[in-house]
Amino acid sequence: MTTGTQRGRTALLTGITGQDGSFLAELLLERGYEVVGVIRESPDAPLGAAEHLRTQVELVVADLLDPERISRLPAEVGPDEIYHLAAPSFVPESWEHPARTMAAIAVATAALLEGVRRDRPDARVFLAASAAMFGDAPETPQHEQTSCRPRNPYAVAKLAAHQLAVRMREREDLFACSGILYNHESERRPVSFLPRKITHAAAAIKLGRAHEVALGALDSVRDWSFAGDIVRGAWLTLQQDLPDDYILASGVGHTVAELADVAFACVGLDAGEYIRVDPALVRLAETMPLVGDPTRARERLGWEPTLGFEALIERMVEADLRALSKGD
Ligand code: NDP
Repeated sequence: MTTGTQRGRTALLTGITGQDGSFLAELLLERGYEVVGVIRESPDAPLGAAEHLRTQVELVVADLLDPERISRLPAEVGPDEIYHLAAPSFVPESWEHPARTMAAIAVATAALLEGVRRDRPDARVFLAASAAMFGDAPETPQHEQTSCRPRNPYAVAKLAAHQLAVRMREREDLFACSGILYNHESERRPVSFLPRKITHAAAAIKLGRAHEVALGALDSVRDWSFAGDIVRGAWLTLQQDLPDDYILASGVGHTVAELADVAFACVGLDAGEYIRVDPALVRLAETMPLVGDPTRARERLGWEPTLGFEALIERMVEADLRALSKGD
């Protein structure tokens, strides 16, 4: 296993402008990697969550919907490690665009792996798979062998990408690994995602900028982690002697109501007084809660979350209070 600084190594990151990409780029730069980030527009376009890293990373342009271009990236960049994080990640939207979702997730991953096999077969590849693949899971918590019953186009596409990586690892000897990622959050998540919607609302209500927050099913259970911890797990995955897949999750489920209680308590308010349940926001829930069993990651990677559930929510509320107070 390799640890410490990795001077002279090159990492290719898709999705660098997103939540995970920005945290991972920070981690890799700290460890001395040359970081090459893939963006879909011109290098002059805003870099989203990675804007503060603009001068420290190299940028290449490629859209997931252009498989030819994606498959040429390994040859063009010559990476030692590839972290394939880019995806249309807002799950409900995948019902609007099933074909585009399959293309951006499943076909793009196939193209990337094809490029690796052809031009850079020794590169190590990390894929951001998703707990959504388990869908209507037969058991909880889920582990790496739990069978998958995906319930939306995003999850179907993530499962296809994951299974292709497993097959290419077995048949073609690629060092391709999936991180089966459960929900992970930070202040870098957009407010369209539930935890950030809640922390932002708690901060806004505290500051008198809002009066209530509309939520769906309060009893929905999720396994929430800090995004910074998840990307450390991604990095550790590629530092092992052998490739494998790892569930990266806290292992503990919490309800939406619990999340709201913690967020509002951070600003000294009672969540129950400010939540309006909107039936239109209730989505079809899984029959089994999606909670991951991170035993393999703990035992083999030595991976442990540094931030627990309460500390994560507190961090997000504080960031929202700061941003709103500055007028953002
Ligand atoms: P984000 O939505 O924050 O980031 C997604 C990234 O993908 C952005 O950089 C975005 O670029 C890029 N992207 C989207 N579409 C395209 C495209 N057509 N061409 C090129 N780039 C594109 O997601 P996260 O960082 O939260 O998640 C990272 C990965 O982990 C994703 O694959 C996600 O599905 C997976 N995952 C995340 C979970 C979570 O809880 N966060 C849980 C399980 C899996 P742009 O800025 O241009 O839009």
